[in-house]
Amino acid sequence: MFGLLLFVRCTTVGFHSEAKRSAIDFGSFAEIKICTILETGVSEEETNKLFDYWNEELNLYSIKVVPIPYRKMERPGFTGGAIFSYLYTLDLEPPCDRILYLKGRTLGDLVYEFFTLGIFLGVGLKLEIHGAVDSKTHSRGYIKSKYISTLQILFTSPESTLVHEGYHLLGCGHQLFMEECYIQIQKVKTLAREKETEPGFFPSITPEGKKFKNREAINSEE
Ligand SMILES: [Zn+2]
Repeated sequence: MFGLLLFVRCTTVGFHSEAKRSAIDFGSFAEIKICTILETGVSEEETNKLFDYWNEELNLYSIKVVPIPYRKMERPGFTGGAIFSYLYTLDLEPPCDRILYLKGRTLGDLVYEFFTLGIFLGVGLKLEIHGAVDSKTHSRGYIKSKYISTLQILFTSPESTLVHEGYHLLGCGHQLFMEECYIQIQKVKTLAREKETEPGFFPSITPEGKKFKNREAINSEE
């Protein structure tokens, strides 16, 4: 069973180095198919905008993410943990390389945000989680795709959250400097071209180096 703690906790943002990134050969162009779940209230237009932003970043690595409409649904539970429990019940089937859940914003969220914002201002602690990726396979994740509070926008946005979680979906962990992540992306792209990788599947690597060369390996991971 998957518990609450089995997703990557996103707290830090790594520093990029243009010089180090451009020194790495990311090989040929790769496409990653992201099966996307739209929570009620999240539109296709918003989804496409988020993907456009994400693709601008991924262009630096010769990668393109393509949103594949997967389903539209009500939130399976209030917490991020409930979304994760749900995501783990979904098998990765062709054409999905990854599954991404776009969380909307409900009246309950508004109340919750109001209180966490109060705590944030009061003690400098931010309780809200804006997104996460499963730490076992780095293949499923969610982001909060809607924000309203201007104070929140100062610190984060759906676009920056997606880019951040997107690096996790490429096998990166948290690091102060992103160089390690560039190498990780190079590795997963190399793995994608290897013969033993399932044809048409963009594989996954965890920061610990565990490789998932086919969907079956991801689906049987418990
Ligand atoms: Zn993170």
